[in-house]
Amino acid sequence: MARTVGVIGGGQLARMMIPPAIELGVDIRVLEEAEGMSADIAASGVGDYRDLDTVVAFAETVDVVTFDHEHVPQPVLRELVRRGIAVHPGPDALLYAQDKLQMRARLGELGLPVPDWAAVESADDLAAFLADHGGRAVVKTPRGGYDGKGVRVVSDAHGADDWFAALAEDGRGGALLVEELVPFTRELAQLVARRPSGGMATWPVVETVQRDGVCAEVIAPAPRAHGRVEQAAADIARAVAEGLGVTGVLAVELFETTDGRVLVNELAMRPHNSGHWTIDGAVTSQFEQHLRAVLDLPLGATEPREDWSVMVNILGGPAEGTLLDRYPAALAAHPEVKFHGYGKDPRPGRKVGHVTAGGDDLDDVVYRARAAAAFFED
Ligand code: ADP
Repeated sequence: MARTVGVIGGGQLARMMIPPAIELGVDIRVLEEAEGMSADIAASGVGDYRDLDTVVAFAETVDVVTFDHEHVPQPVLRELVRRGIAVHPGPDALLYAQDKLQMRARLGELGLPVPDWAAVESADDLAAFLADHGGRAVVKTPRGGYDGKGVRVVSDAHGADDWFAALAEDGRGGALLVEELVPFTRELAQLVARRPSGGMATWPVVETVQRDGVCAEVIAPAPRAHGRVEQAAADIARAVAEGLGVTGVLAVELFETTDGRVLVNELAMRPHNSGHWTIDGAVTSQFEQHLRAVLDLPLGATEPREDWSVMVNILGGPAEGTLLDRYPAALAAHPEVKFHGYGKDPRPGRKVGHVTAGGDDLDDVVYRARAAAAFFED
């Protein structure tokens, strides 16, 4: 059996794969971008994930390659596959997490519900889309966006001129993605894990709350999502995983619209912030499940351990010192809350940790999770 998982990227997602690797008794190695990153404890090398030789040398020391992020270039991924190295998720799937235009087009072909969208190459194209969509729309850079960077609401055909200019300047040309401004009541996320041999498992759909384009809180399961919405979310995620051939954990970010539809926003082909609650709140965490899936092992049960779990991100962290300086007070005040630090230096807006609270009274769980996280924010 394959027993050594290699993770490209040394961020907190790689870090959170380490405890379940220890528990399962499998080996984990990390190729980190720089020394001392979040997953440094399992790092077996420092190097550039865009450099073919670096990635091949790392891949040759492991049985299966997986990822902390989706930025490894397609030619590098394809060369690994050509050399017979197991890569999960593979390049054919990852393409759709790397390029939002390709993703929208493919999901449309699969008959999945997505916002109205178009590829636009000029202010004239954008003007036409705005005219058809009530004068407002969301423009996105197809590649390289994260945490809301590369997403902009526009009501003026020249509102994305700087991005068009940047596309022209980098010589590759290409288009921007424009979408209808979806009238959503809330954002949801559905996690699914899929094995190379096909088995899948979903966790309950969750509600995600974003502030300034960044995930701030997650409520699991999503309140009032029983029945149709819950089923729609799970069906969509399974169809995406199957249709795109995703292996490992896939997160599907969704909009629930004012008229009751569930639309796909974004895909992440790796463990995701919306699933951090599963570490403390579900029988099998997304990180353990990801390892099981990429090793093509049977998947674990996904039932919640609590009626409600609420995860609150620690964004930025203390103005002085580190998270650890605040632990004595925070842990004393909330012995029942689970604290997770990522070993990262505090910096405005940076995800440096999270807390998860659980229980049977949602208002109380929300209150306790927020109160615990507040110890770390100035
Ligand atoms: P990123 O890849 O940077 O996370 P997303 O595409 O997920 O970017 O968009 C970030 C946030 O912007 C979303 O969580 C949502 O709040 C808002 N958003 C994105 N697309 C739309 C849309 N079509 N209509 C309304 N809001 C949107």
